[in-house]
Amino acid sequence: MQPLKVDGERLWQSLMDLARIGATPKGGVRRLTLTDLDRQGRDTFVQWARAAGMTIRIDAIGNIFARRAGVDDSLPPVMTGSHLDTQPSGGKFDGAYGVMAGLEVVRRLNDLGIRTRAPIEVAAWTNEEGSRFVPTMMGSGVYASVYAVGEMLAQKDVDGVSVGEALKSIGYQGDAKPVKVGAYFEAHIEQGPVLENTGTTIGAVQGALGQRWFDVEVTGQDSHAGPTPMELRRDALLAASRLVVETNRVACTYPDNARATVGHMRVAPNSRNVVPGAVNMTLDVRNAKDETLLAMVEDLRRSAAKIAAETRCTIDVKEVLYFAPSHFDPKLVESVRASARALGLSCRDIVSGAAHDAVYLNRIAPTAMIFVPCEGGLSHNELENARPDEIAAGASVLINAMVAAAVVAEAAQAA
Ligand SMILES: [Zn+2]
Repeated sequence: MQPLKVDGERLWQSLMDLARIGATPKGGVRRLTLTDLDRQGRDTFVQWARAAGMTIRIDAIGNIFARRAGVDDSLPPVMTGSHLDTQPSGGKFDGAYGVMAGLEVVRRLNDLGIRTRAPIEVAAWTNEEGSRFVPTMMGSGVYASVYAVGEMLAQKDVDGVSVGEALKSIGYQGDAKPVKVGAYFEAHIEQGPVLENTGTTIGAVQGALGQRWFDVEVTGQDSHAGPTPMELRRDALLAASRLVVETNRVACTYPDNARATVGHMRVAPNSRNVVPGAVNMTLDVRNAKDETLLAMVEDLRRSAAKIAAETRCTIDVKEVLYFAPSHFDPKLVESVRASARALGLSCRDIVSGAAHDAVYLNRIAPTAMIFVPCEGGLSHNELENARPDEIAAGASVLINAMVAAAVVAEAAQAA
């Protein structure tokens, strides 16, 4: 069979239409989870899915599942999806692409009269971004039993509104029970620069980096910047700065896609003529392999102890998050590569530096992701952009991989 191709223009148009909901003057989208704008985005997706002949289920955390029946509807669905919520100053593609690509898969199967043995489902997961309510990837986390639904419904935003209240007010609290998922695919923009820099259209995602986050508290002593001789200081900012340099060294010397970042620092008393006595900072360490991740952290802890001794400060390193590296299903990843090959698209293996809903689905079902380039690697930004031909290419890879997993039962006309 010839590889299938989606209707790239229709997909692009749907993305642009969806991006009008919550559009910002700079060309981005602000559609925070469980707001009225999110409701409008959800309503639009549901309306389009129904128009494509799909049935809708909504679960207790507000995840939406649009289903295209299979010839054997008792088989576990082959699922795809992503999220419709955005960051406060987000773009048109992060999340929306995965949902619209899934919808386009169904529309195209309808065009061609192809029926699959297993049902096909397109999911829109609640609160992937985690900017209004923590944690991130809440809906897929509940689906994969990482989080208890009751606890998640009780999470509150800064105004004291709970997830449960917000869900009810937009009319998206349902009672659908989770179903066994046969296979899960997610198409997403890369949100990084690798595909664009290497001139590659498709990233076959092998998994996502593991993450360890820390809060670091450096304590020295405030003292006068003039009378305190250098050798008698206990400069917390000097200690913190040395730890920043060590963080960079560790990330640059370890293998397996090592990354390490100090993204936030608070200096006290933060005054021009006072030797800083206290620094609070964050530390974000990532790696594709759990043992390398641990080795990086141990190296950083040794560095911190050495710096503390040399600067006569104390450095307290407290772990606040651990997220194991994920490895996607080798057969599905190969199916993504094979679909790209059949379509004549350039493809390379890639590891996701960010977490996605797919990371949680991977815990309960065979999972793979498809990355397409985004301009300048820019995401979580109003200027986030992607090329229409590459957006279409990713969805064409998706349709072939999904059809391979769901198995064609009948085709009314040739592709
Ligand atoms: Zn996303």
